[in-house]
Amino acid sequence: MYEEDDRDVNVLKTVLPLMSRHAAGYHPISYAVWYEYAKGARPDLRRNVDEELAQHERLTVALTYSIYSRYLVQPAEQALMTARTNLLELADQVKHAVYEANQGTAEFDSHLSEFQRRLSTATTVQDLGTNVSSMQAETRRVSDGFGKLTNELEQSKVEVKRLTEELHRIREDALTDALSGLLNRRGFDRELERLTPPDSAPEGTLALIMLDIDHFKKVNDTYGHPLGDRVIAAVGQSIRECLGQAGVAARYGGEEFAVLLPSHKIELAERMAQSIRTRIEQGTIRRRHGEAPVGAVTVSAGVAVWHSEDDASSLIERADRALYASKRAGRNRVTVDCLQSGQSDGVQVAARVVSAS
Ligand code: GH3
Ligand code: MG
Ligand code: MG
Repeated sequence: MYEEDDRDVNVLKTVLPLMSRHAAGYHPISYAVWYEYAKGARPDLRRNVDEELAQHERLTVALTYSIYSRYLVQPAEQALMTARTNLLELADQVKHAVYEANQGTAEFDSHLSEFQRRLSTATTVQDLGTNVSSMQAETRRVSDGFGKLTNELEQSKVEVKRLTEELHRIREDALTDALSGLLNRRGFDRELERLTPPDSAPEGTLALIMLDIDHFKKVNDTYGHPLGDRVIAAVGQSIRECLGQAGVAARYGGEEFAVLLPSHKIELAERMAQSIRTRIEQGTIRRRHGEAPVGAVTVSAGVAVWHSEDDASSLIERADRALYASKRAGRNRVTVDCLQSGQSDGVQVAARVVSAS
């Protein structure tokens, strides 16, 4: 816990020198960008800033705003801005307290010299006593000043912790879908980027399941939109319960879901898709207490596992294609897309095998 606080204080300490080194503008947007840059938790932002600096030497206002909106604008933008502004104010307060303490020390230094001079010329015990008392008072004043500074620094540490937690919460909110409790599309994109295996990674390092609720329009038309929302929430919960710690799930779009499974070979991923499908099929969603349940809610699924020829979008495309094969084949089923590659005259060839169950 304390280590984390210290890290945040350390990040805060590096931000202003960093901004001054790069002749950055001192406004909340610029502060937000440089804070993220200094923290280093967003490699994409960092890479982008470094590229811009290499090309243009400094971040112009337009570039700063463009980087800010590309990486940091979130639904809770206002809250984020407030937190950043508070951090900026906090940095100012600490700077001011340090300045005051420095002033106090300078005065203390000159009083000390004066005290030494008077001591060397004092001839009576009374002279000595008077000088010692005034020096004692001076020492107390400086010591109080340092006490105040220590307090301010302690307070700022608490404030940095609180603001960091708030920023963390805002970031989490921005990546979560409120209805299903799963990641939202932005959260999914980020996870996919994080989990995308390096080029030439072997098959089975990542699997993707795409799921879509069957005939969902009928649910909305028959029972109304609010119940449709409850169905989406219930499907989200079933996916989460089935998945446990095995992977991450997201609401990909309206009634479409995506599940990322690191280190899953095809059979394992297919088994997971089947257990999600059956769990949803067996669940019951009631309209109101005592009322008849909504007719069985089912999902269709498509599974694809990472192949050395894949990139993030081809993986999604293959899982999506398998999902639509499930729809075409009658819904409430799982289709696995297998890319099997081989060498032929030195050219990579791929053959598609789709199996449904
Ligand atoms: P299919 O089996 O082919 O998937 O049939 P479908 O009826 O599910 O078809 P489609 O995907 O075209 O329809 C999805 C519907 O989901 C359309 C849209 O009104 C509804 N929808 C999307 N987002 C939400 C939401 O957040 N809440 C509710 N209640 N409905 C939503
Ligand atoms: Mg759909
Ligand atoms: Mg649908």
